[in-house]
Amino acid sequence: MTRTLVVVGHGMVGHRLVDRLRSLDTSGDWRFVVLAEEAHPAYNRMALSSYLTGRTRNDLALADRAFLDDPRVDLRLACPAVSADRGARTVLTAHGEHVPYDALVLATGSRPFVPPVPGRDAGHCFVYRTFDDLDGIRRAARRGLPAVVVGGGLLGLEAAHGLSRLGMRPHVVESAPHPMPTQLDAGAARVLHRGATELGLDLRCRTAVASIEAHPEGTVGAVRLTDGTVLDCALLVFAAGVRPRDELAAALGLERGDRGGIVVDEYCRTTDERIWAVGECAAVQGRCHGLVAPGYRMADTVARRLAGHPVEAVGVPDTSTELKLLGVHVATFGTTDPAAGRAVEIVFAEDTTRYAKVFLQHDTGSLLGGVLAGDTGSRAELGPLVGRRPPAHFERLLLP
Ligand SMILES: Cc1cc2nc3c(=O)[nH]c(=O)nc-3n(C[C@H](O)[C@H](O)[C@H](O)COP(=O)(O)OP(=O)(O)OC[C@H]3O[C@@H](n4cnc5c(N)ncnc54)[C@H](O)[C@@H]3O)c2cc1C
Repeated sequence: MTRTLVVVGHGMVGHRLVDRLRSLDTSGDWRFVVLAEEAHPAYNRMALSSYLTGRTRNDLALADRAFLDDPRVDLRLACPAVSADRGARTVLTAHGEHVPYDALVLATGSRPFVPPVPGRDAGHCFVYRTFDDLDGIRRAARRGLPAVVVGGGLLGLEAAHGLSRLGMRPHVVESAPHPMPTQLDAGAARVLHRGATELGLDLRCRTAVASIEAHPEGTVGAVRLTDGTVLDCALLVFAAGVRPRDELAAALGLERGDRGGIVVDEYCRTTDERIWAVGECAAVQGRCHGLVAPGYRMADTVARRLAGHPVEAVGVPDTSTELKLLGVHVATFGTTDPAAGRAVEIVFAEDTTRYAKVFLQHDTGSLLGGVLAGDTGSRAELGPLVGRRPPAHFERLLLP
């Protein structure tokens, strides 16, 4: 008998899961109801910035014709799930339908965090997550005028670069001592700072937004920083981190992690054996991950499990990343925060033009991971060496 899988969220990871299970389920055991809050099928959110500079919604689409026309897939756009009933095994949509499930996957992603700053509701203040957000930014952007991005992490720098490509003059405000504080140390950050400044971004670290002031007509006009500086500002983007979208956990009586997220085991299953959570909303052993690679791993695990194939635990996530700033190379690979006493740290650097730091396992000498900034070797070349002893020409690979 055909079973129904309801997937809540048609983002990158929800789509991957349905797509994988479609191909594994050769005997047609499953039909899929996908409840999507957004009005568009899944798209490549990682490439969203390219939408600001000319790529179209179609260019970024993940769901191909075969997926959209598959009679087993019932994709309901602009149809968010608002509640669910575990006893009845149904999900309630915003349109008032109760959709029954045999298995339920929550793939609701994250929402951008907007710090509680006075004035944050002014017009032309945006977040940076969806096509709709970027449509708003594109409409509000004005060439030659100043903009402010709140947050100097990966996303904030990417957003600032997008604004500068729209002709605006972006300031980036970061409360930590340097940009990308989660991934970089001070040495790598100096290289990034220099490259970003050359691209026209004004980075202001060790300060934060104290308040946002609006013009009489309601749109943002200026931003006051905690160090007393006042920046003129015609458009503002919050890129100050994300929070897992775990609202449905309450309705379903599922546990949430200490820092949010739907708690799942290392196979992405909740305490209810019919309910799973994958992607950014899932707290695997208490931790959520804001990157796509760990989410895809989760999707593949659950798809295999539902298809009756043997599975491995999702294990240690791949958290390597690369900054997408034209002309500024910054990347991490492998582990960059090894447990104390486990690693030897070696730095190769040349003034502020290039910097590479690697971590070697202290007893075996094998490569654990590293940080690259500037004109260094690439993540693609160095990543595959993780877990092995570095080759004789290692230094040349790091600083070619
Ligand atoms: C600009 C940008 C650049 C990025 N660059 C990178 C990168 O270089 N590398 C990287 O690894 N990651 C990157 N990321 C992060 C990456 O996009 C996410 O990790 C990935 O999209 C997570 O997939 P997901 O399916 O868990 O969540 P999402 O892709 O956010 O999808 C979740 C979907 O669920 C929907 N939803 C939520 N609640 C409900 C509900 N109740 N009912 C129905 N639908 C619901 C949401 O509307 C959304 O469409 C980037 C993100 C952004 C915004």
